Amino acid sequence: MSPHPPSSSAPLTLEQLRFDNRLVRELPADPVSENSRRQVLGACYSRVNPQHVRQPQLVAYAQEVAALLDLPPEECRTENFTQIFAGNRLLPGMEPHACCYGGHQFGHWAGQLGDGRAINLGEVLNQRGEHWTLQLKGAGPTPYSRTADGLAVLRSSLREFLCSEAMFHLGVPTTRALSLILTGEQVQRDMFYSGNPQWEPGAVVCRVAPSFTRFGNFEIFSARNELDVLQQLVGFTLRADFPHLGEPGPKTYIAWFEEVCRTTAQMIAHWMRVGFVHGVMNTDNMSILGLTIDYGPYGWLEGFDPDWTPNTTDAQRGRYRFGNQPKVALWNLAQLANAIYPLINDVEPLQAALDIYRNQYQNAWQNDMANKLGLSEFTEQDNTLVDELQRVLQLTETDMTIFYRRLADIDLQLERDTFEGSTDSVLAPLNEAFYQKPAPEKLQSLLDWLQQYRQRLLQDYILHGTTTEQRRIRMNATNPKYVLRNYLAQQAIDKASEGDFAEVENLLALLRKPYDEQPHNQHYFARRPEWARHKAGCSMLSCSS
Ligand code: AMP
Ligand code: MG
Repeated sequence: MSPHPPSSSAPLTLEQLRFDNRLVRELPADPVSENSRRQVLGACYSRVNPQHVRQPQLVAYAQEVAALLDLPPEECRTENFTQIFAGNRLLPGMEPHACCYGGHQFGHWAGQLGDGRAINLGEVLNQRGEHWTLQLKGAGPTPYSRTADGLAVLRSSLREFLCSEAMFHLGVPTTRALSLILTGEQVQRDMFYSGNPQWEPGAVVCRVAPSFTRFGNFEIFSARNELDVLQQLVGFTLRADFPHLGEPGPKTYIAWFEEVCRTTAQMIAHWMRVGFVHGVMNTDNMSILGLTIDYGPYGWLEGFDPDWTPNTTDAQRGRYRFGNQPKVALWNLAQLANAIYPLINDVEPLQAALDIYRNQYQNAWQNDMANKLGLSEFTEQDNTLVDELQRVLQLTETDMTIFYRRLADIDLQLERDTFEGSTDSVLAPLNEAFYQKPAPEKLQSLLDWLQQYRQRLLQDYILHGTTTEQRRIRMNATNPKYVLRNYLAQQAIDKASEGDFAEVENLLALLRKPYDEQPHNQHYFARRPEWARHKAGCSMLSCSS
């Protein structure tokens, strides 16, 4: 909008926020204004107001996200802020609405889903000329709520709030979270699907992203053969979210799909690098901007196990298990390709774009693995080195985060001709990573791998002059020291449920600098305690949220 955005931004009050609601203005609206659950045809969104809540209370806010909106921290601590982001008050310029989308859930077409408990408030246009959509999650029912209540509980909202910010600071593309607010209302949830629903504190998160458009937003119009709406949505998305690609048309559609393939590949490579398992990679949970979106029953790998998923609903099949995420993303991209095919009518460039995904993912992953091991580059031989490492890591339950972080501390005696020392002294830095003491033959496998690794590092030193210190710096910039371990989030939830929000603040501060040593926070660099192994919320999660 503004051709010359000011280079520095003045802090604003909430009332001074400027809204430029492009989506509402440019896309077809649901003509029915009644907030009733139904199929919404021929429209991209329905206008709907957040539900009034009794006694909102701010739990936490993210000052970095407020800064994106030009809001200073003081403004986030006002009663006005709490009322607005609980859904009780609208600012001038806000035009609340819920979007229509469909999706493939667990491999099957599920028809209309839509924002069943998300309400977009509008698009803030900040002083740097950026658009940021504000979205309340858990602010009451919409036409897309189907049989559910449109609400969210504290435990899932707190997990979403903290993880969005943790991922951002890890360098993983993600939607952001501005605020976490208790509503003062009780919400009924059957957490274990056991027929024992309980009352839980309700909460609302305000999520922030350039847009919340999902693969499923395109799929629904294609599935319904509403091709004119599909074309409008693609055109809008190109102009709003991909302006650098140029005017919408068949050529830009392909360039756009290629870009979605690339950004999705990068996002998945990041997940694999940090040990994140999304848990519900349905196509309605895939952002068109390649952002991690919809934090539900996600989890972090503790013991390295490619077959692990935190989602109880998927435990049997493991469709969305850690090691399957790259393949699932490709499958999801293929569904998006099918959805936009009617606008392109040519299979070949879409297939070529899926190959771009494969290549991009492989390159990103290899690059990450080289960095994780402190190598200057990934070479053909490193496939064996990495495969062997992944096998060794599964011989004994080994904490992924601690292992990679401490690997940088092993003295591999590169300056000597041979690698000496007792098993105990060489492996000492890795002891903290083992959930049980490894049997001698398993330790031997690890030592054998370390010998290969050492050879590779020597070669890297000869070819590129990479010193031990350079290796450590490279590794520690890629291997986080602190991640949002499942049990850490649960401890913050337990305390917040009793009205103590200090642990949310502690974790927010900790996870701002996940690659830094933070000696005062060393106690967070620890294996999952045994009590948390089977505790609900600490290892397995249901979709109930
Ligand atoms: P999810 O698996 O959480 O991404 O949600 C899938 C679909 O269910 C989306 O359309 C959500 O909006 C909807 N949904 C999930 N939970 C609720 C809820 N409590 N109330 C209304 N809709 C919901
Ligand atoms: Mg979802």
